[in-house]
Formats: sequence, structure tokens, C-alpha cells
Amino acid sequence: MLDSLSTSLKDALKKIAGKTVIDRAAVDELVRSLQRALLQADVNVKLVMNLSQSIKQRSLEEEPPKGMGVREHVLRIVYQELVALMGGAGKVDLAPQTILMAGLQGSGKTTTTGKLARYFKRKGLKVGVICADTFRPGAYKQLSTLCAKVDVPIFGNPEEKDALLIVREGMKRFEATEVVIIDTQGRHALEDELIEEIVNINEIAQPDHRWLVIDAALGQQAAEQAKRFNEAIGIDGVLITKMDGTAKGGGALSAVSETKSGIVFIGAGETIDDLERFDPDGFISRLLGMGDLKALAERAEEVIAEEEMDVNALLRGKFTLRDMYKQLEAVNRMGPLKQVMSMLPLGGVQIPDDAYDVTSTKMDRYKVIMDSMTPAELDDPQMISGSRVQRISRGAGVSPEDVRELLKYYKIMQRALKGMRGSKFSMQRMMKRFGK
Ligand code: GDP
Repeated sequence: MLDSLSTSLKDALKKIAGKTVIDRAAVDELVRSLQRALLQADVNVKLVMNLSQSIKQRSLEEEPPKGMGVREHVLRIVYQELVALMGGAGKVDLAPQTILMAGLQGSGKTTTTGKLARYFKRKGLKVGVICADTFRPGAYKQLSTLCAKVDVPIFGNPEEKDALLIVREGMKRFEATEVVIIDTQGRHALEDELIEEIVNINEIAQPDHRWLVIDAALGQQAAEQAKRFNEAIGIDGVLITKMDGTAKGGGALSAVSETKSGIVFIGAGETIDDLERFDPDGFISRLLGMGDLKALAERAEEVIAEEEMDVNALLRGKFTLRDMYKQLEAVNRMGPLKQVMSMLPLGGVQIPDDAYDVTSTKMDRYKVIMDSMTPAELDDPQMISGSRVQRISRGAGVSPEDVRELLKYYKIMQRALKGMRGSKFSMQRMMKRFGK
């Protein structure tokens, strides 16, 4: 998604890598590359200029937070300003609700309705879809195929031309359904009939949300549609589709954000599960190519204060289960393990893929299991025999499989640590590297 923007942003940020003091020339250069990248992604010139101005001013005037290097300081500002440019995300309730879908023909409205039906269904809600698109031949069939795929009931009638009638009946049919999504007609252009019909449907259905579907390829023109539909029915969420197929996504995103309609989802593919919740922080972090930057930045201070870990010391002494748990806790606080590991100076050491797969649920389970072990077992897990596994699993109320999994994980970590012999692992140095 927005690959070219992402690449240029990363290149721009590389320019300040290695600088030890912030100087005007370096910031100017960074801002110039950033401008080029954003303009190429079709972001409005005025917005780009405002953003450049703030980045320049803040980079030069604000004091870097204690312990933060020049690059991190500027990076943080670039990140914050880009997040502001994207605006806040629209609200998505996981509760009973009626959602009215608006948008022009070809925007991806029907496909997105199917994607949403699946989204809410997977959240455990009972979903029903009303096909009120009586304009486009084949609309009902397309939507029923999608609904069948996700096993969601659809209400509609391909013979009926009166969309208002369908909506009225559909609302009755789905009275006991938790989430009702109404797909409406679209036309090629913003015509009065189209607006009039959606205003009427809005009155009949009294939906909780009115969402607009917009094609990312529209770029800055997205603003006009958002404005028109907003005036007609009050849009409270925008779904931008086809982000996978355009370099103009930045334009659509920022244009919509300017109308304050709030982006709720992004469509990035033709299949039914190509739908993502829009989250400006995560979105910009990924654009800058650095994982969950916000979480990392917030936790940086906290983690830096933690005890540094010296792998060699661990290896000289004994790597116990307790050490492993402590290490997992520290790493878990920093974000997804895989990402953190990818920032480590491991020098080509391969960590097996299943070593990354430690979720917080698993962490909780590990803790319960470890609480059922004796101090001797914690210090020397090798001594845990089959019968001990049984005893521990009974004590912890988990299956013996779970205990064996923990022990296997311990072995993997121990092996990985051996591989790191000679390199110094320190949280502080790791934080200094983040963003590279
Ligand atoms: P509608 O007229 O607004 O109901 O549009 P459709 O749902 O029929 O979609 C129009 C075309 O866009 C179809 O070929 C869809 O497969 C395609 N489409 C919809 N959303 C996406 C998306 O997020 N990515 C891509 N690549 N194609 C999409």
C-alpha cells in the first residue's frame, strides 16, 4: 500500500541518519524529500506546505527529549505531523446498529458491504444485508454471492424498482438482527436523483451510521464527494477502497481527513478479507517502515530504565526459566517480538519462526505454569521429567502439552542465546537503533 510514498519517506529519513547535531541544512533537505514524496502521492500542496513548515520549526526549536538522538527527535516530529495530516479515525461500534452505505458506482460499495458483513460477523454479531441498489442490473446477484460466501442473510428483490419499499421491508425483516447494512445505488456522477434517494433512505432507515465509500484513485477529488454526501446525509465514516492499486492514496486520505468525516476502514484488495480498520498511528508507522512506532516511542523511556541485559553474563551463569520470562516480559512491552528482534544486532543469527509466536495470553499461561514449578525446576528446567510435567500441568490446570511447549520454547531461546555469544544485547542500544 502506497509503496512509493513509503520508499521515498524512508529515503528521506535516511538523510538525517548519522547526524549528531541538528542543523538547518539537514532539516531542509529532509523536508524537501518529504514534500516530493507527499506531492507524488497527490497530497494537496497547501497541506504539504503547512506540514513542512511545522516540521522545520519544531525540529529546530524544540528540545529533543532526554536521551533521544537527533534522528529520533526529527523522526518523532515527522511521525506526529503525518498522523495529524491523516486526521482522526472514524468510530466503529461493535454493537447493534444500522449502517447506510453511500457512494458512486464503481467505488467498491458492494464489495465493501460484503467485507463489512464479514467483519461484524467475525466479531460475533448477527448481521443482515439489505440490497437497495435497484439501479444497477446485477447488483442484487453480486451482493447475494458475497453474502452467501460469508453466510449472512440478504434482503432484496431484483424485480423491484422502488428502493424505499425494499428498505422499509428489509428493516422489518431484520428487526431482530444486530447489525443491518444497507447497500444503496450508485451512479457514475453526483446526480441529484442519487442524492435525493439516499436522503429518503436515510429518513426511512434512521441508521446509526452513514458511511461513504470512496475510490482511492480519486486522489484529492475525494474531498468533493465527501462534502456532497456529508451535506446530504451527514457522513460519519469514510471507507477508502483500492488503496492497493494507486499511488494517489495519500491525496484521498488527506482530502477526506480535511472534511473531518473520519476514515473508518481501508480496502486494499478484491477479496472479502481485504479490509483493514484505519488507524492513523499504525498507518503512518508502517508507511515510515517502522512497525508500531507510537507504542515503541511511548515505551522507550520506561524500558530504557530497565536493567540492561548482557547476553554473555547470562551465558556465563545459567539461563534459567526465570531469566527467560523476565526477558520475554521486557521484550513484550516493546511490541511484537518479531519486529523487535528484527531491530536487534543479531548479525545473521537465525531465530526460528515459532520463537516469535508468543502472545500475551501465552505469557499469562507461562506464568501460571511457572508458578507450579519448584525453585529447583525453575533454575534447571533440564531436570523436568515426564512425571514432573504431569504434576506441573495438574497444579497449573493446563494440559501437559502446554508445559512441554513452554519447555520447548525455553530450549529455543537458550539455543538462540548461544548463537548470540559475543554480541552485547542491551535494551538501550536497541532503542537507539530503532527507526533505522
Ligand atoms: P460498486 O459499484 O460501488 O458497488 O462497486 P463494486 O463493489 O462492484 O466494485 C467495483 C470494482 O472494484 C470491482 O471489480 C471490485 O472487485 C473492485 N474493488 C472493490 N474494492 C476493491 C479494493 O479494495 N481493491 C481492489 N483492487 N479492487 C476493489
